[in-house]
Amino acid sequence: MPAETFEFQVEARQLLQMMIHSIYSNKDVFLRELISNASDALDKLRLEALRDEAPDADVSDLHIAVETDKEARTLTVRDNGVGMSRDEVVALIGTIANSGTAAFLQELREARDAASAEGLIGQFGVGFYASFMVADEVTLLTRRAGESGGTRWTSGGEGTYTIEDADDLPQGTSVVLKLKPVDAEDQLFDYTSPWKLREIVKRYSDFITWPIRMAAESTGAADGEDGEDGGESAAPEPETVNSMKALWARPKDEVGEGEYHELYKHISHDWNDPLETIRMQAEGTFEYQALLFLPSRAPGDLFSRGHKRGVQLYVKRVFIMDDCEALMPEYLRFVKGVVDAADLSLNVSREILQQDRQIELMRRRLAKKVLSTVKDMMSARPEQYETFWGEFGRVLKEGLLSDFENKDAILAVSSFATTHDAEKPTTLSDYVSRMKDGQEHVYFMTGESRGAIESSPHMEVFRDRGLEVLLLTDPVDEVWVEAVPEFDGKQLRSIAKGEADLGAGDEADDVKAERERQLQEYAELLSWMTKQLADEVKEVRLSTRLTVSPACIVSDTHDVTPALQQMYRAMGQEMPDVKRILEINPGHALVTGLRKAHAERAEDPSVGETAELLHALAILAEGGELADRGRFTKLVAERLERTL
Ligand code: ADP
Ligand code: MG
Repeated sequence: MPAETFEFQVEARQLLQMMIHSIYSNKDVFLRELISNASDALDKLRLEALRDEAPDADVSDLHIAVETDKEARTLTVRDNGVGMSRDEVVALIGTIANSGTAAFLQELREARDAASAEGLIGQFGVGFYASFMVADEVTLLTRRAGESGGTRWTSGGEGTYTIEDADDLPQGTSVVLKLKPVDAEDQLFDYTSPWKLREIVKRYSDFITWPIRMAAESTGAADGEDGEDGGESAAPEPETVNSMKALWARPKDEVGEGEYHELYKHISHDWNDPLETIRMQAEGTFEYQALLFLPSRAPGDLFSRGHKRGVQLYVKRVFIMDDCEALMPEYLRFVKGVVDAADLSLNVSREILQQDRQIELMRRRLAKKVLSTVKDMMSARPEQYETFWGEFGRVLKEGLLSDFENKDAILAVSSFATTHDAEKPTTLSDYVSRMKDGQEHVYFMTGESRGAIESSPHMEVFRDRGLEVLLLTDPVDEVWVEAVPEFDGKQLRSIAKGEADLGAGDEADDVKAERERQLQEYAELLSWMTKQLADEVKEVRLSTRLTVSPACIVSDTHDVTPALQQMYRAMGQEMPDVKRILEINPGHALVTGLRKAHAERAEDPSVGETAELLHALAILAEGGELADRGRFTKLVAERLERTL
């Protein structure tokens, strides 16, 4: 096929522009990205060979080479891995497959300053395109292992790239960078300096398990910017510059934090440091080592269908698969890392893993370990925990619905917004420690926002009596509260459901007597209203939770809440309408007035209308939708008119 010029996909073009005008300050990371890709390509080829899927491939000396040419100012990163076919080059290099890209770019454009833009890039990780931070032109030469023809891709990063067939290429991929001029201002180093390159490789890619080869330094002393390769004579022998040791296989005290962080970046494609590193080792009948990371920021697609879940699986240091969902429960899908199992077959498939009993045990242990790490974080590093919870709390709470074995552990590391503190969320155990004498339950209310919940009438008596209420505003809260009846022996009670039970066990006799009296007094009005509003509510009763508002709506103890109904409907599930309960406040003048009016002139249509309005007000107070807005407006306007 002749040379063809293509346009970059719009998103890719925008991203490239940003790389060319490099807003990312640490440009050295381009090399880490290229080596990371080369390492992945070698992993893939070895796996194909293990599975007999690449009979014509050469797997005899898999390695990565970093080569420079000072005169031509080029830097080449070469691997003899799996390579790419022409179509793959177009698909993988010319476009950005990540679904979150458009949203990411939007955020990037809106980023207020360079630092936040940099944070975003770091979080997104731009991979191969990072080359354009240091190069004016990038050429990629590649031949898919086992195929004969190769492909040459080249671009200056400005809008288009060219692809043509290329013969006589070795197996694998070479990326040749035509380096920009050295520029002290722009912190562009001389990336043809072997000393500089070695330092970058050691710093970012030491743990890569494939040899990274560079020309040996011919002079011994080479420390400092000027200590460049003095050997202009015969080409020096290549030597391996990385230690190639899998971090999880090295003794714990030998591995520095920075090394863990670089491994994290390699496997997660995140450019930021992780929040926490977890190392585990299991011996015995089923041996494995795990190195897990909690990221410091949630990726944009954590809640979208396409989100990949799980950690990488290795078997005896050999990479087997990415995103191994069998190793992590879904509610821990943000955890990144590596699990290296000694006793699995190299041919193990996803299907087999899903059914394997040992794997299931491993998954349970890993989940427990993650939760106990978060627990430790809470007490030892509260700020870090706060970050974690802010990023991943919403996901973690999904576990309350799926992981019954760890329900208590999940509750123990959860925190919730509370009326006790306007800023700082609380844990359940702190809530319990603050419970008042006689308070039996943990109170909560779900809703769209803190403001909406706080201004709802259901809060009134709780506020009055200084009873703390948890304010649950995540969509998942609507669901898990139905599945979790208690914490630490205390029932979890919605203040918008059932009777307001304020722990009235030792209520004074005079209070009880007063309530009895009111019940008798209102019996007639309540049964009349229940009939009047029968189409809308299942019952009208006296409220013990209102102090200021005339009325509110509550759900029956075991009924589905409107928010949950809505969620199920959004998911396409049929949900019948559930009638709710109208509570009226016998301490409110509108309610006492209505009782009198009903007793005196039950037939007057305006009495019925007032009952109707009371119901409408209760709906509006909780932010609900009126069935007939026109009628409501008309009735209110008529009444206002009379007051003038
Ligand atoms: P990522 O590594 O996050 O997928 P990159 O931009 O680094 O994103 O690379 C894009 C894709 O291009 C890779 O997923 C891979 O399929 C392909 N690729 C990049 N470099 C190589 C290489 N050296 N050998 C084979 N494929 C490569
Ligand atoms: Mg990459």
